[in-house]
Amino acid sequence: MTAKHIAILGSTGSIGKSALRVIDSLGPDYAIAALTAHSSVELLAEQARRYKPRVVAITNADYAAPLREAICDLDIEVLAGPDSLIEIAQLDDVDIVLTAVVGAAGLGAVLAAARKGKRLAIANKEPLVIAGELLTRAVRENGGTILPVDSEHSAIFQAMQAGSREEVSKIILTSSGGPFRKATVAEIEKVTLEEALSHPVWDMGPKITVDSATMMNKALEVIEAHWLFDMPVDKIEVLIHPESIVHSLVEFVDGSVIAQLGEPDMCLPIQYALTYPARVAGIGKHLRLEEVGKLTFEKPRLETFRALSLGFEVARTGGTAAVVFNAANEAAVQEFLAGRIKFVSIVELIEHCLNKHKVKRDVSLEELLEADAWARREVKISVKRKAKNVK
Ligand code: NAD
Ligand code: MG
Repeated sequence: MTAKHIAILGSTGSIGKSALRVIDSLGPDYAIAALTAHSSVELLAEQARRYKPRVVAITNADYAAPLREAICDLDIEVLAGPDSLIEIAQLDDVDIVLTAVVGAAGLGAVLAAARKGKRLAIANKEPLVIAGELLTRAVRENGGTILPVDSEHSAIFQAMQAGSREEVSKIILTSSGGPFRKATVAEIEKVTLEEALSHPVWDMGPKITVDSATMMNKALEVIEAHWLFDMPVDKIEVLIHPESIVHSLVEFVDGSVIAQLGEPDMCLPIQYALTYPARVAGIGKHLRLEEVGKLTFEKPRLETFRALSLGFEVARTGGTAAVVFNAANEAAVQEFLAGRIKFVSIVELIEHCLNKHKVKRDVSLEELLEADAWARREVKISVKRKAKNVK
């Protein structure tokens, strides 16, 4: 076969680095066509030197000069600025676009790749959450494919192959429960940044790690699953599974439940999104259930993890609710990571924005972006106002 050319958007992040290890192991059938980073010039230059893509991009244009300087001896085109992701996603010589940037920043590129009918290997869940309808329509209308990289959605995608779409009675997303699975409301009040950044199972970028601690990540994943699998919200359930071995499950109408199991390692879902429909030998450790011993499951505590119940409400509401939900979270997590707000304020700010927002339906991309900008502004204003009152 001729080599498949892959663009990795966000190659310097947790998913991006794992993807490079996977592609390395796949041999000459897969080639790196493009790599991007936001500001990690040194690592991007190192990756460019090693993988020799035709083009690299740095989305924060302030870092373009040092990047050009660092790889000036190589025959690699350097793009800069946020729109460089869109340019890369549309390149004719790119077959697969692996989106591993963080947040809504990936939206333009994901839509552009979909409109070009590319294979999208999508780790970046936020665009699906905020523009699920537009994105899945663009994929359908342009003959593209969208393959999940998120471990739960990869598991569902794999389990779905046991029957037809009409035969599915529900999908069950598993969650490790995060670092505060057993915490009381009073304990959660006192959570520090350091505690929120230490996930018990997964080693991930800071934003998704905080999302896992609030369970916002699972809330976003419910909406992601709703769009990816065209599944009514009432047929989506969440189950806490601290061992993170069963990555998700699909129940069929006859009562049969098909699950996908594996070590908690993103290399497997990344690889499957690249090689699908083929399965090839992988670099990850194989699962030995006798070493795991026990698999446990429990219901999520919705009263403690308000983000999760809000996620279900937002998924049912539809329209611009999800974009506000996501943007308020992105802005609030930024405030939390900068040490300006408490952990519990993240969800309070999201709820504040949802309460204040008037949901619009059948919206264009422009209207979605407007709602996104409004929610980010609203979070900033609320945080400033609160800081003033406290003083
Ligand atoms: P990360 O923070 O480790 O890496 C993010 C990457 O995106 C980096 O390469 C960074 O340079 C780039 N980036 C950051 N801000 C950007 C911006 N404004 N514009 C363009 N590029 C930007 O994040 P991650 O953990 O690799 O997660 C990436 C995406 O994958 C997220 O959407 C996350 O929800 C999803 N995801 C991650 C995991 C995981 O195990 N890490 C699992 C499932 C899904
Ligand atoms: Mg996940």
